[in-house]
This record gives sequence, structure tokens and C-alpha cells, in this order.
Amino acid sequence: MIPYGRQSISTSDIDAVVEVLKSDFLTQGPVVPKFEKKIADYCGAQYAVAVSSATAALHLLCLSMGLGPGKRLWTSPITFVASANCALYCGAEVDFVDIDPISYNICPKSLEEKLEVASSLGKLPNILVAVHYAGQSCNMQSLFQLSKKYGFSIIEDASHAIGAEYKNKKVGCCEYSAATVFSFHPVKIMTTAEGGMVVTNNDQIARKVEMLRTHGITRNSMDFINRESKPGWYYEQITLGYNYRMTDLQAALGISQFDRIEEFLSNRLRIVSNYNKLLSVMDIRLPSISEDLRSAHHLYPIWVDRGFNFNDRDELYLKLRNDGIGVQVHYIPVHTQPYYRNMGFQWGDFPTAERFFSGTLSLPLYNDLTEVEQNNVIHSLKNAYGLA
Ligand SMILES: *Cc1c(COP(=O)(O)O)cnc(C)c1O
Repeated sequence: MIPYGRQSISTSDIDAVVEVLKSDFLTQGPVVPKFEKKIADYCGAQYAVAVSSATAALHLLCLSMGLGPGKRLWTSPITFVASANCALYCGAEVDFVDIDPISYNICPKSLEEKLEVASSLGKLPNILVAVHYAGQSCNMQSLFQLSKKYGFSIIEDASHAIGAEYKNKKVGCCEYSAATVFSFHPVKIMTTAEGGMVVTNNDQIARKVEMLRTHGITRNSMDFINRESKPGWYYEQITLGYNYRMTDLQAALGISQFDRIEEFLSNRLRIVSNYNKLLSVMDIRLPSISEDLRSAHHLYPIWVDRGFNFNDRDELYLKLRNDGIGVQVHYIPVHTQPYYRNMGFQWGDFPTAERFFSGTLSLPLYNDLTEVEQNNVIHSLKNAYGLA
């Protein structure tokens, strides 16, 4: 089965991890800050804090930005559940904003309408998680303007979008947000096996996330509650944190993968351009990337209705699967998950997200996808449309 996504591991990746295995530190040691510096510099952000996953990054960001009971977080329904779950971890409420039918990102107009209603009810959100779906940045300027007008903060969930650009700047520079999150899960652009990163220009947020990732403990005398001078072994737990650290093994893999990021991005772009060219003759809605953006091309979501040999998305899914093509659905709208339906959400709440969901399939897209494999995908699709 050709998967929809997978990692690309080189011998230098393997060597980098083995080198750490032979060193003094396996868990958080000297390699983690090196990895953090590389990512911060690449994004043009002041601070980067590595954690055990993007889910952990979202959780700690919500906490460090004051989310808690009585507060609200809004996000897109077309995302992985983690973008919403982070609010529930903090005891806050979640709501969603419908997507734009072209970019599949949060629709600024729907957001504005919802904000007006929320404002009159006194139920404005505290945080908006802007998900850069499939690797394409949200319309950050519009979201930013609304955040100023209505007084909420923005977290960019860039789990799909390391290397993407918005208005000629890297996603992660945080020009229009409080902080940005990356995921290094194996299906993403680059991997550390499990792993995530917070980038921000806000030193308070960076320091809080650093403390929260390691039990709420600090060894920095500037942060101590007890101010009299202390011996070197002294540390203080000053808040309730977690064990969300990244290991040096993961960071070494991250640095080695990061050295290939331009290769990863250009191979993804090449595969996407090939799909665009070879599928353009077919009755399929292809992903559309706005002219002023550079997508990281994490996913290639097509939007299908019906074709010669299939009546709906699920029949096409089975046909492709039977041909060994591991297509996937990104995503089941989060509000329709049983856990969220128990909170009162229903089918019909976010119609554009639901329409997109009912027709979408993500085609295989990853660094090591060969031309032969890609041609198999296209042949199988053409077959389903009665064109091969
Ligand atoms: C993968 C993903 C996450 C979670 O990433 P982990 O590193 O697996 O925790 C969060 N949000 C989005 C949009 C994702 O795709």
C-alpha cells in the first residue's frame, strides 16, 4: 500500500541519533537548545521551545496564555482533534468557525459574523487557533485585524506548515500571532518521531512554556519565589507543570532532518505540480494555493463528487484502496466526533466544513514518493473516472 504520508530517513539521520546514544545525555541535553535555535532562526522568531509533541505545545501555550475555566478557544472544524482538545485540557470551552471553500482554512468572514454575535452575548473567545490546513497559511492579516478589534490572541497551528510562507515571511515569524506550533510527527514535513515546537517573540510565553514542559520547575534564580541566595543544587517548583520534554535523540534527528528541509519542500512542490498538471483535465476540485503564499504542501486534498466508476467519496476511497493507494480523509470535522457531539455540537453546525469533508480524499504526498508510484495513483484515479 502506498501511504498518504511517510517519513524520509537518511543515513545521516541515523548517524546523528546514534551519536547521541553514545553521548552523556539521552533526554534533554545540549542538542535540544541547538535544535531550538535552528528553528527560531529559520522562522525569524526570537524564541523556540521544543516539546514532546504539537499536542503538548498547544496545551502549554493555552496554559501560558491564561486559558482556563470560563474562557473560550475557537478553531477550525477541519483539523486534527488536538487543535481543539487543548482548550478542554485547560477546562475552557471550545467552539468552531466554518472554513472558506477555496483555501479550506478558517473563513475570515464567518469569523467576523460569529464574533459580532459573540460580542453582543458577552461570549467572545480568548484564543483563536488558526490552523494552516494542508500547509497553506490562513489569511493572517484579516485574522489579526479581527483579533485587535475583538481582543483575542492567536495561536498558529502550523503542524502542516513548517517552511511555508505568508507575504514573503516564514510561517512561525509570528508577525500576526502570539505563538506558532509545529509538529514533527512522522507524516509531517520533517520528523523527530514524536515532537513539537513552540515559536514566539513573547519572552513571557517562552519562559512559561519552558517551565511547564518540565513539571513547573525552574533552576533560574530570577524566577525563584525565595529570593535569598541559594546553593547550586537548589530548584523551585513554582507552578503545576508536566513532563513534556523533547529528548536529545529526537532533537538530533530534528537537526539532521532540518538540514534537508529545502529538499523536502521542493520535492513536495514537484509532486504537487505533477498532480496539478495530470489531474487538471479531470472533474476534480484540486487544492488551490493563493498567489501571495508558499505552501509547505503537507497534504494534497482533492474534492470529488461522483465519477464514471463511483457514486461518492467512499466508493472512490475503496477503489483506490483496492489498487493499493492509501488515501485518507483529512479531516472528520471535529465538532461531529462523538465526544464533541456530547457537548452539544451537531451535524449541520458548520456546513462548508461538512460539505468539504464529505467529498475529500488526501492523495499520497511525501518526499520519497516515486514517479512510478505517483503514476499508479493517477492511473487508478483515471480508471475510477472511466478515463483509463
Ligand atoms: C499532527 C497535528 C497535530 C498534533 O501533532 P502531534 O505532534 O502528533 O501532537 C495538531 N494539529 C494538527 C493540525 C496536526 O496535523
